[in-house]
Amino acid sequence: MAADCIFCRIANGEIPARVVYSDDHVVAFHDVAPKAPTHVLVIPRRHVATLLDPGADDAELLGRINAAAIAVARELGLADGFRLVFNCGEHAGQSVFHLHLHLLGGREFSWPPG
Ligand code: AMP
Repeated sequence: MAADCIFCRIANGEIPARVVYSDDHVVAFHDVAPKAPTHVLVIPRRHVATLLDPGADDAELLGRINAAAIAVARELGLADGFRLVFNCGEHAGQSVFHLHLHLLGGREFSWPPG
């Protein structure tokens, strides 16, 4: 846990969030500033800053994050289509440096992304 990390504090319940999925390894909660009708963030409980951090290429960890996102997508009725996004680093728009997978759905998405 990183004491000054907002997502660590959400994961351990210090900061409230609209949690939609939680297990021993990952937590999923609604984004506070949604970019789509459904916008959920899936995070590992363990503090990992970015996809480039040591340990962030852990296949089991990434698999758990992905599996949770897919389960939430099903649960929230996004079968018509959804998008999963990791922003890695400032140039990609990462603003919170605790690894998170964006699950976006409920509207159409253009390609390529901006
Ligand atoms: P990124 O820009 O990829 O780092 O995404 C960070 C996301 O975290 C943004 O979409 C923010 O709206 C979201 N966010 C920041 N603080 C909170 C919070 N306290 N609860 C839920 N979502 C948050």
